[in-house]
Amino acid sequence: MKFRAMVLEAFKEPLRMREFEIGRLPEGSVLVRTLASGVCGSDVHIARGEDPRTPVPIILGHEGVGEVIEVAGEKRDVNGESIRPGDHVIWNRGIVCRKCYWCTVAKQPHLCPNRKVYGINMSCRDYPYLLGCYSEAVVLLPEVEVLKLSQDIDPATVVIASCSGATAMNALDSLTEPLAGKTVVVQGVGPLGIFIAVAVKSMGASRVVVIGGSPERLSVAKEFVDVSLNRRELSEEERRKKVLEITHNRGADIVIEAAGDSQALLEGLNLLRRGGTYLVAGVAVPQQPIPFSVYESLVFKGVTLQGVWVSDTRHLIQAVNLVASHPVVFEKLVTHRFRLEQVNEALQHVEEKKALKAVICFE
Ligand SMILES: [Zn+2]
Ligand SMILES: [Zn+2]
Repeated sequence: MKFRAMVLEAFKEPLRMREFEIGRLPEGSVLVRTLASGVCGSDVHIARGEDPRTPVPIILGHEGVGEVIEVAGEKRDVNGESIRPGDHVIWNRGIVCRKCYWCTVAKQPHLCPNRKVYGINMSCRDYPYLLGCYSEAVVLLPEVEVLKLSQDIDPATVVIASCSGATAMNALDSLTEPLAGKTVVVQGVGPLGIFIAVAVKSMGASRVVVIGGSPERLSVAKEFVDVSLNRRELSEEERRKKVLEITHNRGADIVIEAAGDSQALLEGLNLLRRGGTYLVAGVAVPQQPIPFSVYESLVFKGVTLQGVWVSDTRHLIQAVNLVASHPVVFEKLVTHRFRLEQVNEALQHVEEKKALKAVICFE
């Protein structure tokens, strides 16, 4: 069988269409026909060579939903159900070693130093090549944790669960107190920020404030958040005033960075109440250091500061459940649909923040 895929052969160059021939599959692996492939904000950085993990050549794309074409031998999903041709599936984009300290003792498999990720650090140089989602088909290796999906869920809508959605759920998983009654500020209104906003609202947060710079994205968020603040229209001081106004002058209980910019920490810590929690969920590639006053912003305020790195299979399952219970909201996030040959255009739309969520769709 032959499949086409968009390959990054050199950093900062357009992706090129290539064809791959798939013969015998490794025992226990699953060949899926791609139904939807999400264009993640980090793909823009990866294509420029800013992610230190990425080799070339590589088929980019780490968010995918597919329909099973073939199973080599037997494979069950994480619920123990047998996987068969025709099934719709989503999978954990990362493969961990199950042997290291983080996998076995700390039980934090997403921090496994040997983690391999589809479309990020698995090259298409060697067979079975199809290890990224900007492709007509993907080979899910035997170690991949797969989840069967209901055929009623739109693949283009649920594909967000595989990266942004799962990372959002990992961020919230690190909170030690319930969200009920809390005021949460989300910095950034990309797919990650909006996913977090919907999730915290559904988990009982009393007020959700989003801060963003794109009017198109803010107008989508407006429908389900309590306060949306445009950082191009309001100064940092004005934004802080708005947050203080609705929190009896205390500041937010939780602030979550989902802007992908380390600079956001400086404002975010300022919006937090004493004893609050700050989660850094959006920074995905190395960036310039920021000046940061440890005494005023962290110690004196008694703040909990938490970095969030990727996600695990349970976060994927939580994200799929959230999408399934809010299909109308998440459908609205998919503002742009492209064909496989238009991937470069899709990446440009994401880079210029014209698209909220861009998805590659296949016939
Ligand atoms: Zn991603
Ligand atoms: Zn490991």
